[in-house]
Amino acid sequence: MTDLQRAGAALCDWFDENMRPLPWRKNREPYPIWVSEVMLQQTRVETVIGYFERFMVRFPTVQSLAAARRDEVFKLWEGLGYYRRAEYLLKGAQYVVAQLGGVFPRSARELERIPGIGAYTAGAIASMAFGERVAAVDGNVLRVTARLAAYHDPVDLPGTRAKAGEISLAMMPEGRAWSHTQAMMELGACICLPKHPRCNLCPVQDACRAFDMGLEQTLPVKGARKKQLEVQRDVYMITDGRRILLRRRPDEGLLRGMWEFPGEEEAERGFLAGFTVRRRERAVSVRHVFTHRIWQMQGWWVEVEPCDAPEGCCWADEGKLAALALPTAMAAFRTFAAARLGGGN
Ligand code: SF4
Repeated sequence: MTDLQRAGAALCDWFDENMRPLPWRKNREPYPIWVSEVMLQQTRVETVIGYFERFMVRFPTVQSLAAARRDEVFKLWEGLGYYRRAEYLLKGAQYVVAQLGGVFPRSARELERIPGIGAYTAGAIASMAFGERVAAVDGNVLRVTARLAAYHDPVDLPGTRAKAGEISLAMMPEGRAWSHTQAMMELGACICLPKHPRCNLCPVQDACRAFDMGLEQTLPVKGARKKQLEVQRDVYMITDGRRILLRRRPDEGLLRGMWEFPGEEEAERGFLAGFTVRRRERAVSVRHVFTHRIWQMQGWWVEVEPCDAPEGCCWADEGKLAALALPTAMAAFRTFAAARLGGGN
């Protein structure tokens, strides 16, 4: 047995005894594993638990999700952010039902044909639901393997991902793919932490070359981070005193069909000129950080004479404002607007 195989067996034993009791670990069906893995991308476990449970109550099977209305899926997703994930989940479910008779393929290679399922998610589903010997490499696995094998390749290079996958596979004990895939992630999430790894509690410390060489704080090597682009935007909370105006995003592109407060684009094409403005004041300002950009948003409270909603927009009272699915970046404006409407301005 190699050192990596021994470490892999010790890691699985540690996981089987110490795993956190997360709701998606209750069974080994591909559908809940898929939903949880998609929700967990870029999102903390503690945040995902409630969303996952509500989602599974409403959409317990891939068939029920495939038949869902987009706005209902978005509403359940609200607050998780990165709505593109919900979009792909829905598309993927429709594909599984329409093209595959509702049955998930059992190999990572075939799973990758489903829209929205990439190499990581395919590896996670195939290993955890079907026991396939295949790696699922996320940020945790990159960090853990870089430290275990003390490699210095920058983690954002595609070749490093393949290397991490090979190390992870070399550690995977026969017949324990379910435990191994999750054990690697659990180790990264709970013990082999990015800034302060808890090496004194680590079940694979004996095999860890970074620990041996005192490099656990230095590895993994990160690539040069691109500076996030910062964009200034205005957001208009237009009210007729009882209701607030929302506009529907176009049916093409990101977040299509979701509702939001009018902003820059509307102002540029003279949108506000269509209203009789009674008062306009600077309101809440919000900074929202996306993966590659930052929106610095200035909210404006604009009181107008009652009128019909322009095309593509609707007037929403407090109840409707709460019921519609809005992007996460708009959450603070919704809270502000709801409080103002509730307080009668
Ligand atoms: Fe990570 Fe430390 Fe364990 Fe090595 S010994 S895998 S650095 S927690």
